[in-house]
Amino acid sequence: MSNFDKEHIWHPYTSMANPLPVFEVESAEGVYINLKDGTRLIDGMSSWWAVIHGYNNKELNKAAKLQIDKMSHVMFGGLTHEPAIELAKKLIDITPSNLQKVFYSDSGSVAVEVAVKMAVQYWQSKQKPSKNKLLTVKSGYHGDTFKAMSVCDPTNGMHHIFTGSMPVNYFAEQPKLRFNEQWNDNDILSLKEILETEHNNIAAVIIEPIVQGAGGMWFYSVEYLNELRVLCNEYNILLIFDEIATGFGRTGELFATNHTNIQPDIMCLGKAITGGYMSFAATLTTNNVANVISDGEAGVFMHGPTFMGNPLACAVANKSIEILLSYDWKLRIKQIETQLYNELIDLKNNSNINDVRVLGAIGVVEMKEPVNMAILQQKFVDLGVWIRPFGKLIYLMPQYIIKPYELSKLTMAIKEVV
Ligand SMILES: *Cc1c(COP(=O)(O)O)cnc(C)c1O
Repeated sequence: MSNFDKEHIWHPYTSMANPLPVFEVESAEGVYINLKDGTRLIDGMSSWWAVIHGYNNKELNKAAKLQIDKMSHVMFGGLTHEPAIELAKKLIDITPSNLQKVFYSDSGSVAVEVAVKMAVQYWQSKQKPSKNKLLTVKSGYHGDTFKAMSVCDPTNGMHHIFTGSMPVNYFAEQPKLRFNEQWNDNDILSLKEILETEHNNIAAVIIEPIVQGAGGMWFYSVEYLNELRVLCNEYNILLIFDEIATGFGRTGELFATNHTNIQPDIMCLGKAITGGYMSFAATLTTNNVANVISDGEAGVFMHGPTFMGNPLACAVANKSIEILLSYDWKLRIKQIETQLYNELIDLKNNSNINDVRVLGAIGVVEMKEPVNMAILQQKFVDLGVWIRPFGKLIYLMPQYIIKPYELSKLTMAIKEVV
């Protein structure tokens, strides 16, 4: 491979002076990533939660081609179009019933910025401008733009590097009780204490429901969220669910919210929304939040990205949701979950391994020590799989179309390298 990439192109969270190796991809189809040197890799990452129906999916390709022959993009200021309308109908239909207003943007981080701006503008409109900070829990991940970064885990996110440039928010302890573990009020005590003293300064709680993704791949208790809703009501705080990673079936429910019996005031969607075809996101909220913002000083919601409502992305998103709802996705995720569990669980006895956990189509092997990413990555490629660990975590989030023998290749590769 040419050195051009190495010398000129930044990759995610990578040193430009001393970059980790990258593998050049020629094409991808179904669950296979084809490298330029002819190696075929089974994809265990869904390209970061996004690709759920396979690469180079015939139906998604067709939806994109049909739309591109009509128009790839028009501005959304003063104009609208069928793909955006259809998508909003679908999103309103499948998300919690109180969410009735849709704001489109171009990436997950921006969807988070939009959610936060909604919350801040809401309280500004209610003549409570001091309610402008966020409360979240440790080990979260919400994106890389400044406001989103400010609610990512302060240690993982190296907040000290950005002191002075970054808004300061409130951090409660990470929920410790596991998904399905017996509830105990102590789990939410730290968050409750912050609310008690600081609620006049807090616009919203932002949290990834059930699954903390890039901040630690942790699955926590449903009851935490039920209690959180009660506290937010009690202290007049909006509740933002960041479902950018968990949305569209990944955790075994269509949205992680559906594990609970509550509804958030604002919800962020991204990643799998276009089946992993292109960058696109949406922020949904209630009639109440939208009305209060519109009644405020500005009279409008102060946001409007250039590529807002991009028709091409909307058309592919529509098709992706259609495909997902066209088969028994819930059973499929259950099958993946069962297989991941059966094939990974005995790793718990391995002395290098701290924990093994599985929820929906997510399997996590937590090592006792951080892994050497460069070495492991090469080993996985040698074994014909694409698995990208970080920190102490080796994890799988396969595409929903993966076949049992392909999934076994992924779990066997993990067993082999640990
Ligand atoms: C990936 C992610 C984001 C950021 O999305 P981008 O499209 O990368 O900007 C935000 N929140 C969560 C939970 C995510 O997993």
